[in-house]
Order: sequence, then structure tokens, then C-alpha cells
Amino acid sequence: MADNKGLTTRAADFSAWYNEVIARAELADYSPVRGCMVIRPNGYAIWEQMQRALDQMFKDTGHQNAYFPLFIPQSFLAREAEHVEGFAPEVAVVTHGGGKELDEPLIIRPTSETIIYAMYAKWIQSYRDLPVLINQWANVVRWEMRTRLFLRTTEFLWQEGHTAHATEAEAEEETLRMLGVYRTFMEQWMAMPVITGRKTDSERFAGALRTYSCEALMQDNKALQASTSHNLGQNFARAFEVTFQTASGDLDHVWSTSWGASTRLVGALIMTHSDDLGLVCPPRLAQYQVVIVPIYKTAEERATLLEASDRLRKELSGGGIRAHVDTREGMKPGAKYYEWELRGIPVRLEIGPRDIDANQCVLVRRDNRVKRTVSLDSIGEDVADLLNMIQTDMTVAAFERREANSHRESMDYDRFRQIMEGDGGFVYAGFCGSPECEQSIKEETKATIRVLPDEEFRSAETPTRCLKCGSKSVAEALWAKAY
Ligand SMILES: [Zn+2]
Repeated sequence: MADNKGLTTRAADFSAWYNEVIARAELADYSPVRGCMVIRPNGYAIWEQMQRALDQMFKDTGHQNAYFPLFIPQSFLAREAEHVEGFAPEVAVVTHGGGKELDEPLIIRPTSETIIYAMYAKWIQSYRDLPVLINQWANVVRWEMRTRLFLRTTEFLWQEGHTAHATEAEAEEETLRMLGVYRTFMEQWMAMPVITGRKTDSERFAGALRTYSCEALMQDNKALQASTSHNLGQNFARAFEVTFQTASGDLDHVWSTSWGASTRLVGALIMTHSDDLGLVCPPRLAQYQVVIVPIYKTAEERATLLEASDRLRKELSGGGIRAHVDTREGMKPGAKYYEWELRGIPVRLEIGPRDIDANQCVLVRRDNRVKRTVSLDSIGEDVADLLNMIQTDMTVAAFERREANSHRESMDYDRFRQIMEGDGGFVYAGFCGSPECEQSIKEETKATIRVLPDEEFRSAETPTRCLKCGSKSVAEALWAKAY
């Protein structure tokens, strides 16, 4: 491994490493307001790529974007009993505006169900108005006591989809469709494999009938909930009187869903792929996919190299590749290499005077640091192929790491405790369905049920006994310590 200039290694202290990567790669910074995060341009560029990809996927599945206000009347939150219980402790309240005390305090949205259903009650009258398929990109505030950049901050950016349907079956179909959209995005764009499944009641969204999520395993063997999709049943429709006339003339409440993913995904990306030299970003989400570093000594060489570099950049851009030329003066190529590695740029293209004479350049991969010399004649194709290969290799590496740290062997509780006290990871085991077993395991080991995995992720041999109490298992559960 090359000199990493004192960056804490993952093995030495994963949490310190994570914070240092974010600071040194200039992804985010701490705000003067405790618990809030400033997203710096290098971090925001990754979020923008994520937004673009997800937004297109939402539109391709029939959704439209809209925008609802930041402020919500405090009384709205109280209308859905579970919802208020779940969110009240972390809500920020505005009591004054324009120098006067407000008649009714306003909350700053921790999520937007309440204000959205208040509007849906006005907009939806008939079955002909359904389905309503709306998404919004917004910021939300949840007053967090223990915060970590990207993973848990008081204010964060996200999208929240809110849909209304005529039947329970349609709402369930939508809930699962969007879970699938997230999974596709995480696998194909983030190169991050996930396990999908349903949450147990204790981990369900406050006010939902059923919650589903995508769970990923980070390099420190802790799970990260990467997105959730909720079937809200008719709970919010009842609370906000969202009714519609059915085709047969009856009056019914709509069935609704909500689903969200946030800037937490940037944290997930960092902890899935990065190494002891800094960020490693999958090509499809990188701000720049290729950085061209011209190497020269004399003024004459400089002119030739800058001209050649710009030509290369144009050629790569023409093929849809995000390329950037590092033209900074007074900085040695080695220092530039170090910086772009720290920032996770997938491919570095080095070119010097002798390369120009030989009609070639050097490509260096960030993920495995393998170098190779290629001809300039086919540079566009070669770089495109290389980026695809990196994306695939990163996906495979993340998948193999997760599977190597997943336990599917038959499990007794002692062995389970050993794993959770030791290296951690995913453990698949039987579950009797009792909240008491779930709770006592959480208290004793800090591990929680991440999901009851969807069929394709379940073990070939179905566990028959509950991990904790030994009585009959009703579902295979995926356990891990989590962020
Ligand atoms: Zn049990």
C-alpha cells in the first residue's frame, strides 16, 4: 500500500477513518450549529449524481415531483397517534415569527405525511383522481442527540414519495415496486448489494402498516438501513379524511404509501468501498470519472501537454465520460495523484512528453491501483470499457465481502453472542415472532432484526427454532448491529 500520509486505517479505528476520509476528501464539514452538516462540493456532486439517477427512475415508474412547505401546523402531527408518538421527541418547533408569538406553533417537517395528506384530502374526490404518484426532494429536520456526518444529522436532504391508491393491493404493489427501484439503484449505481425484506413491528415506521427496507453491510460489519418503503394502509387517510368515491358510488379512504432515501447513502457509499488511501467512488456516481494529469517540465512541454490533455478531455466527454484536466500550476504530479486518489476518482490518466511521441498514455484504476499503457487511438473506448469493468469489479468485491461476513450456519445463542461481541456481520437465524425475544437479544447483544428477508435471500435450509427461546420459528430473520 502506498503512503497514505497518516490517514487512520480502517483496521485501526473505522470510525476515525470514516471522519478523516470525509474531511480530507472535502466531502462535508461540521456546521457551527451542533448536529448539522455542511455538504461541500465534492460530497454534493456525488449526491447530485444519486439524485439524477433516482429521479429518472421515479419518473420512469410514473411519478411526478412536487414541493410541500417546510412548516407544518403542530396540530397536524397529533392526528395520527403512532406517528406523533414516533416523531414528537425529535421535532423542532417554531414558536415565534415576525417578532410575535404564533397563535399555533409550527413544526419543521421531520417527514411530510401530515401536510401532504391534508392536501390530498382537497385534491382527491373520485376514483378517477387515483392513483396520485408524487415525490418531493427536500430537507427534513430530526433533532438528533448523537450525530455523524451523512449517517445521522439533525438536518438532512432526502426524497420522499407519497402515493395514494384505490385498493390495498395497489398500495402494496407500489410499496414493493419502489423497494425494487431502490435495490436496483443501490446495486447498479452504488455497486452496493442489499438484502431486502420486511421490518418487524418494533422497527416499523410510526404510522405504517408494513415497512420494507434495503439493508447493506458496511466494511466494519455493521448494517446500514439504506432506504425504506412503507405501506401506510388507510391510517393517514383516516387521520386526514382523504376519501374518494369508488366506481360503484361508495365512499372509501385511500390506501397510501411513502418511501424515502437520503444523503445517508453518501455515507453508505463511503463505508462500502473506500480504503486506507481515501474515498473509492463507483464510476457511475463519481463527480469526475477520469482526471487527466499532464506531466511536463518546460514551458514548451507544458503548452503541448495542455493542448493534448484538452483534446483528450473533449474526446472523452464526447463519449459521455465525465473528464477533468488538472491544470493546476506549482503542484507536482505526485501530489495531484495523491489528491485524486483521496477523492476517489475512478481513473487517472497520466500523459507526458514521451507518451505524446509514442501516441499513448497511462491509465490507473483507483479501486485496485492497477496501471496500464494504452494507445491514444482508441482512448474513448478503452476508458469506457475500463469504467464498466471497475463498476462491475466493485460490485463483485462488495458482494463477496458481504457474503464472507454472513453467517448462515445453524446457530445457537452462545455462538450468536460470540459473533456479535467479535467481528459482527449478518446472521441469519430463526425467529419465533415474539417482541420479547427481539428485545432481549437487542439488550444483550445490541443486535437488531434488520429485516425478515425476501424469499430470494433466505437460507436454503429454513431454520426451525427461534435463536433465543428455542420455540418454533415463524420466519427467518437477518440480525446485525446497525448504524
Ligand atoms: Zn423466541
